[in-house]
Amino acid sequence: MAQGFTTRILHSDRQSPIEHGAVHKPMHVAVAFGYQDTQTLVDVFQGRNPGYSYGRQGNPTTAALEAKLNGMEDGIGTVTFATGMAAIAAIMTSLLKAGDHIVSSAFLFGNTNSLFDTLHNLGVEIDFVDATDAAAVERALRPETRMVFVETIANPRTQVAALAEIGELCRQRGVLYVVDNTMTSPYLFRPKTVGAGLSVNSLTKYICGHGNALGGAVTDTGLFDWTAYPNIFPAYRSIKPAMQGLQQIKKKALRDMGATLTSEAAHRIAAGAETLSLRMDRACANAAALAAQLAAHPKVKRVYHPSLPDHPQHARARELFRHGGALLSFELQDGLDPVRYQDALQVVISSTHLGDNRTLAIPVAQTIYWEMGAERRRSMDIADSLIRVSVGIEDTDDLLGDFDQAFGAV
Ligand SMILES: *Cc1c(COP(=O)(O)O)cnc(C)c1O
Repeated sequence: MAQGFTTRILHSDRQSPIEHGAVHKPMHVAVAFGYQDTQTLVDVFQGRNPGYSYGRQGNPTTAALEAKLNGMEDGIGTVTFATGMAAIAAIMTSLLKAGDHIVSSAFLFGNTNSLFDTLHNLGVEIDFVDATDAAAVERALRPETRMVFVETIANPRTQVAALAEIGELCRQRGVLYVVDNTMTSPYLFRPKTVGAGLSVNSLTKYICGHGNALGGAVTDTGLFDWTAYPNIFPAYRSIKPAMQGLQQIKKKALRDMGATLTSEAAHRIAAGAETLSLRMDRACANAAALAAQLAAHPKVKRVYHPSLPDHPQHARARELFRHGGALLSFELQDGLDPVRYQDALQVVISSTHLGDNRTLAIPVAQTIYWEMGAERRRSMDIADSLIRVSVGIEDTDDLLGDFDQAFGAV
């Protein structure tokens, strides 16, 4: 019988023998791996033996985490990286070249947006479109489009991309579909179900959950036909067709660029992943309760959360995701100061980051969207009073009470 999501994570390490019967895969910190017989070393280098060579390409501890993540995403292979941004940069730098074109959602994690500026300087053309509408993606496709990139739920305004429709479009056109699954995590949503070829996760967020390790991962779902992808180097054409893309990502981006996940971080992330489903159930329920409370408050102008019936993609989120996510944002009524409001919060921490067990809030225009300037913020409909909340797993009443009492300050 197929096991459930959490059972599989908990017992993943035991799928292969663990040293001394330990119930966790131990933290392996060796950088080099030696072999008694030299032919075995040769076979490792030539890909006939799955052993380890040098720590920059991973070790048994990162491999154990990769196996867990791969099970969570139902992939054919997963590679981990030092951060989520390293995982995204790995995809872009190993699979694209000058003259290629990508279509990206305009509602994008800020650092990914900035990374795309760098790609543009390297000769890659990018069109940013409203990915809540698959027709906008279709209009932007060109013969040289190599990739469509979207996030599941955008931050901070929680737009939900037309994930299934874009997947169908990419399938018809033979374009690689890359989905950043960070905001949903594989517990709420599997990009494979909508035809994504690659799913990327920042492990720093919900999968780790405890705010004590950085990490990222790329999973190949097995759906994309790499034999038709023009940018595969000859060295990787000779291996099994299904693995050509991920092998190139691993060799070019992990081995050659070196943003390797450490064992210590992999170990913490693996421990965090064991409780992903429990934490997500709780945090998402808290977020839905908070969104409803805020929406009814007279000092609140607008609330953005997919659980709310008036959210533009409410029906889509219900259809695709197990829950509506644990991130919400809200605008105060005109003239009310978000910084003052946040200063009155006692349980909630004023902090950037999301996907933590603790609830974190940040005034968006004054911090993470400050650098882009007022004009760009207006074009993205980011109000000066917008507060982003990454909802944690605190007891619901403590959280609702804290947000309620803070309105006294504004
Ligand atoms: C945080 C985040 C990233 C980057 O992850 P890091 O681990 O912080 O590098 C990428 N995409 C999304 C949607 C994120 O929220």
